[in-house]
Amino acid sequence: MDKNLEDEQFTGVIKFMPPLYKQRYEFVKDLVRKYKPKRVADLGCADCTLLWMLKFCSCIEVLAGLDICATVMKEKMHRLTPLPADYLDPSERSLTVTLHQGSVAHKDSCMLGFDLVTCIELIEHLQEAEVEKFPEVVFGFMAPSMVVISTPNAEFNTLLPGVTIFRHPDHKFEWDRAQFQSWAQDTAKRYDYSVEFTGVGNPPAGMEDVGFCTQIGVFVKKYPQTREPVKCEKPNEAAYKTVFKAVYPSLKDEKYLQNAVVSEVMFRAEIIKQSLLDHLMSEYEDYNDDPTERKVKLQCSVNCFSEDFETLAVEKSMEPFVSGNVVYIPLRKLFSFPKVKQLCGTFENFCRLITGKVTLNSDHSAVMLNIENEDEES
Ligand code: SAM
Repeated sequence: MDKNLEDEQFTGVIKFMPPLYKQRYEFVKDLVRKYKPKRVADLGCADCTLLWMLKFCSCIEVLAGLDICATVMKEKMHRLTPLPADYLDPSERSLTVTLHQGSVAHKDSCMLGFDLVTCIELIEHLQEAEVEKFPEVVFGFMAPSMVVISTPNAEFNTLLPGVTIFRHPDHKFEWDRAQFQSWAQDTAKRYDYSVEFTGVGNPPAGMEDVGFCTQIGVFVKKYPQTREPVKCEKPNEAAYKTVFKAVYPSLKDEKYLQNAVVSEVMFRAEIIKQSLLDHLMSEYEDYNDDPTERKVKLQCSVNCFSEDFETLAVEKSMEPFVSGNVVYIPLRKLFSFPKVKQLCGTFENFCRLITGKVTLNSDHSAVMLNIENEDEES
C-alpha cells in the first residue's frame, strides 16, 4: 500500500534508507523504548507488521490491533501466534495480543485503558464523517496517555514524480504541515493533550523547506492522574469483532512457572547426581580396575548411610549423598542455584511449587533420584 508507493515507485528519484515505512515503525519503537508503555493499541494496523515488531518490546503486556479490513489483518496475523520457543522458555512478562475488526469512528470498551495508541498512515484513509468522529473516539473515549499520528506531508509531494493528486488512490486527503498542525492543535486543546510535531523521511539537501515526507504528531495527555474523564456518549458495546487472540505463556502463570521450576530442579539434580556417582566411581577405580568389583563396591558404599542417618544428614548439610539405590539432593542445595531462587523468590514458594511434581523424601527435605539406571550402565 502506501509503503510500496513511497519506497518502490519512486526508486531512483528519492530513496529512503531505511525504507520510509520502517522509519515510521522505528519511530514508534523508539517511543516505546523511551516511555515503556504496558498497553499499546495500533489503529489501522493493516497486516500487523508494527504489532509484530512491538511484541518483542519487553515492557508491553497488552497489544491490540484494529482495522476495518479483516482480510488484510488475517494475511500475516500468524506472526502474532506464540512460537514453540515461547512455550519452552516462557517469558517473565505476560503478553496478550488481540486483533479487532472495526472502525476508528466507533467506540468499543475493548479499547479502554491503553497507554499508547498509534495511528500510522491511517487518518488520510478516513472518510470526512470518520475524521470528524476520530478525535472523540481516540482522545475523548480511549484517552490513552500518548497518541502518535503519522500522515503524509503534502508539501513533500512535489519531490515525488508521478504524484498528481495523492500518493495513494485510497487517500481521501493529504494535509500540508499547516493543515495537520492546525487540526492536531485544535484536537489537543479540546481533549487536554499537548502535541509536538516531527517526522521521518528527510528531504534532499537544499529542499529542507518542504519538511519530512511523513509528518508525525506526538500527543501527550496532560495531568493523566487527575483529569476527569471527558464525558462521552455511551460506547456501542462490542462494536468491534475480535478476529484473533493470543495469550503468551508467561512465568506469571503458575502453570508455566511450575514447569520452569521443575525442569530447572530436575536438570540441576541430574547433574549433581551424575557428578556424585562419578566421584564415587573414581574413588574405587583407584583401588580396583575390575568393573564387576567396582559395581559391588559402589553398592556397598552407597549403602553406607542407614535410613536413620538420612534425615540427619540432610538437616546438617546441603550436600547430596547416596543411600541404597537413591541419591538425596537437599532442597536447600537446589534452592541455592540462582535461577531456581530467581524463579521462586522464597524457599517456601520453591517447596510449594515442586511438591507433588518431583519425588521427595519422607520429610520433604530432599529430592530423591534413583541410581539403578546408572548402576546398570556401569
Ligand atoms: N498502519 C499501517 C502501516 O503503517 O503500515 C497500515 C496503514 S494503511 C495505509 C491504512 C489502514 O487503515 C488500512 O489497513 C485500512 O484498512 C485501515 N482503515 C481505513 N479506514 C479505517 C477505519 N475507519 N477504521 C480502522 N481502520 C481503517
